[in-house]
Amino acid sequence: METKDNHKDLYIGIGSNMGNPIENINTALNILSKYNFFYNKNISSFYESPPMGPADQNNYINAAVMFKSSESPEDILKLLKEIESSMGRKKSKDKWSERIIDLDIILYGDIVHCTDKLTIPHMLAHERAFVLLPILDINPDVFIPMKGFAKNLVKSCLYKEIKKLKNNERSNV
Ligand code: ADP
Ligand code: MG
Repeated sequence: METKDNHKDLYIGIGSNMGNPIENINTALNILSKYNFFYNKNISSFYESPPMGPADQNNYINAAVMFKSSESPEDILKLLKEIESSMGRKKSKDKWSERIIDLDIILYGDIVHCTDKLTIPHMLAHERAFVLLPILDINPDVFIPMKGFAKNLVKSCLYKEIKKLKNNERSNV
């Protein structure tokens, strides 16, 4: 969905599995909400699922938030990385290692962007239940460019061992 002034729907996926993940996600949402170029935010339910990679780590909590934005994809990625660092995320060489906070651009309106540093839509979002279910909470008709409608993709996606947390455990940012 686009508005006449060129703002697009920006979906950000948020994940955490260290410390208090629910608190970490709420902290990230609070930081994001201070930026006035993000407006009309819409936050998903929170979901819990086992780690995708190495099993010697805690379960993950995932959520998504949608804002209207007209910032460039690169500027958004830079901001997300800054928030991750400000919250104490350390760089790890290991794929899928535990993390205090992970902020990914899932999709950004109809934008298709593919560089070394940034792929939009997110390369693997379409096959992950912990990404698809949160964005479907926000918009049941959400369409992922080049991949399809999330409501169709979710039927054949991976990592289906997932639990929706109760409303009182989620954010009211
Ligand atoms: P991951 O999220 O894959 O577990 P990281 O958060 O460490 O791993 O991200 C690794 C790199 O992925 C980032 O430094 C960024 O340059 C790149 N990247 C590519 N596409 C995206 C995207 N859509 N959203 C966020 N990061 C992305
Ligand atoms: Mg990431």
